[in-house]
Amino acid sequence: MSTLEIKGLVTSVAGKQILNGIDLVVHSGEVHAVMGPNGAGKSTLSAVVMGKPGYVVTAGEVLLDGVDLLALPAWQRAQAGIHLVMQYPSEVPGVSLVDMLTEAFGARGRDTEGLPAAIDAEAERIHFPTALLDRSLNVDLSGGEKKRNETVQLALLEPKFAILDELDSGLDIDALRDCARRVEDATNDTDMGVLAITHYNRLLAELHPDFVHILVKGRIVASGGPELADQLERDGYEAFTDGAPDDAPATSSYDDLFAV
Ligand code: ADP
Ligand code: MG
Repeated sequence: MSTLEIKGLVTSVAGKQILNGIDLVVHSGEVHAVMGPNGAGKSTLSAVVMGKPGYVVTAGEVLLDGVDLLALPAWQRAQAGIHLVMQYPSEVPGVSLVDMLTEAFGARGRDTEGLPAAIDAEAERIHFPTALLDRSLNVDLSGGEKKRNETVQLALLEPKFAILDELDSGLDIDALRDCARRVEDATNDTDMGVLAITHYNRLLAELHPDFVHILVKGRIVASGGPELADQLERDGYEAFTDGAPDDAPATSSYDDLFAV
């Protein structure tokens, strides 16, 4: 059992404070959804946990089984077991999927002998055309194909925790179902923990979250079970933004927020 712990995380980007104190704990096998409107800081949260340059952490910690992730470069965080599926996956001309995974397996001391066959099997499992596997990573792929390609990587790398930054963006319903099901299988097969960032409910209909958190203006203003996503669908983010002005302390419980 592993634990990813985000404690009091405050982060600035380009001189502006974007995350205003985030607390979140994800255990192996759990699916946590973080939902929030545009500009709430969702991608910032994923970037800070993964170690994208340019984000200045001014307070707080991110711990993986007690190890300070913020002290490590992104590649060491990946080796420690964190995997980010970016909202807009990067294109890497000249590097194929098998090249990339061979390096990644090598760096982890994993045997690469059966890798090409394993890639083919994963691709078929999520309906990613094997004819596209020889292309440079994500180059000339549609939005949906990129996310399927990223999901193949995720499935083979078997991280302890996956952060999905709007896995649903650019995906049609079929691709969404295939990718979400593969992620959910990993939570059962390898006990992967998931932090699924989204602003629509439709991902959550496929990837059943155990916990839902609402992120508004760099703060988690409510946490609960899947019913919180249904509440959000009915009432919109405004219900959560009201009463949580910029300088108000974050409301941390669903009950408090709707108390009269
Ligand atoms: P979300 O993913 O929830 O839509 P983001 O985390 O992408 O939100 O952005 C939150 C805020 O931080 C926005 O106001 C955005 O303009 C700002 N921001 C994010 N990244 C950068 C950056 N690299 N440079 C400047 N501003 C940024
Ligand atoms: Mg975003």
